[in-house]
Amino acid sequence: MIRINENYTKLKASYLFSDIAKRVTAFQQANPSKPVIRLGIGDVTEPLPPVCIEALHAATDEMANRATFKGYGPEQGYAFLREAIAQHDYAARGCAIEADEIFVSDGAKCDCGNIQEIFATDIRLAIPDPVYPVYVDTNVMAGRTSANVNGRYEGITYLESTPANGYVPAVPSVATDLIYLCFPNNPTGAVATKAQLTAWVEYAKKNKAIILFDSAYEAYIRDPAIPHSIYEIPGARDVAIEFRSFSKTAGFTGTRCAYTVVPKTLMAADAAGNPTPVYALWNRRHTTKFNGVAYPIQKAAAAIFTAAGQKQVKDMTDFYLGNAALIRAAITKLGFSCIGGDNAPYIWINTGRDSWEFFDLLLSKANVVCTPGAGFGKCGEGHVRISAFNSRENVVTALDRIAAALK
Ligand code: PLP
Repeated sequence: MIRINENYTKLKASYLFSDIAKRVTAFQQANPSKPVIRLGIGDVTEPLPPVCIEALHAATDEMANRATFKGYGPEQGYAFLREAIAQHDYAARGCAIEADEIFVSDGAKCDCGNIQEIFATDIRLAIPDPVYPVYVDTNVMAGRTSANVNGRYEGITYLESTPANGYVPAVPSVATDLIYLCFPNNPTGAVATKAQLTAWVEYAKKNKAIILFDSAYEAYIRDPAIPHSIYEIPGARDVAIEFRSFSKTAGFTGTRCAYTVVPKTLMAADAAGNPTPVYALWNRRHTTKFNGVAYPIQKAAAAIFTAAGQKQVKDMTDFYLGNAALIRAAITKLGFSCIGGDNAPYIWINTGRDSWEFFDLLLSKANVVCTPGAGFGKCGEGHVRISAFNSRENVVTALDRIAAALK
């Protein structure tokens, strides 16, 4: 009989958000009169910015007309979008990234999950803990780890983010080859300073390693001293790939558009030790397995780079950051230490107790859903994540209920 990829059996049996959904459904069935407010999963709630809606309508009309109809587009994305990204997200910040180093895709989740397949299977991994689960699970599927033992896989150097290091891990003492970093961080909301990112770029150079930098939440950075891109660090072009998304920047979680930057100067060794451009491999992978993002969606994404679009996106992210500020203030007032929320839409609360127990307490007493930190890795134990993605009314009601429940 045909056999399965055994690596899939090494994955931890349950998926965090399905566990949460099961507990919430059970609670709702037992308590149908108690309305639950969800501050768990990181999905946006506000509608798309008006510039995106206008662009979608206009592009739909183009698709309705034989003269302007578009079939397959370039797999890497239309030039109008790649050029707008290069100009607004990179040149404007002093980063030397060319439009043709940008690969438009339908999600940062797919990109940061798929990128590992262009590297050897026996490379050494460095992955944060707690972490966005995609980085670990895609490497497990590819066979780069042993089975999960006590919440850890052999084959990964875990970069522990704890209260002691302000939830920003230092470079490890051992050499690694592929390093995943995410700032502003999901789940902790922590950001990395220029000095901290410089240490990572220097570590990568010294070890001839590559950093995969996920900056899906960069639009939430308000502190002018915090870098938005790894390419703000000198030399990063030679050691880093960056992932960005329109999901949290402009409410595209259901619309799907993102991009990955692979500089042409980034090299990895072939079997004989010769430096080989990673760009060529990713271009080959992308054009073989992906057929481009829908034209109307790329037009909608490009619209956010207009002056009106920039204002609308700032207003939207300011709105969620307003929720985040309320959450952080209310939780701090209750006596908990927490981080995040100032440059990120997540607040990471040090609960001082088992994270699933705290989740159950908030669900049963306040009818509020959060995310237990243990679901993001061993170091997430003792913490929960609260998301700022909801209406102001729901956030205010949830905070009142949490205060009453925990007093
Ligand atoms: N990277 C991080 C850190 C995320 O938290 C998320 C979504 O929650 C993604 C990537 C996925 O983004 P996309 O919607 O573009 O797939």
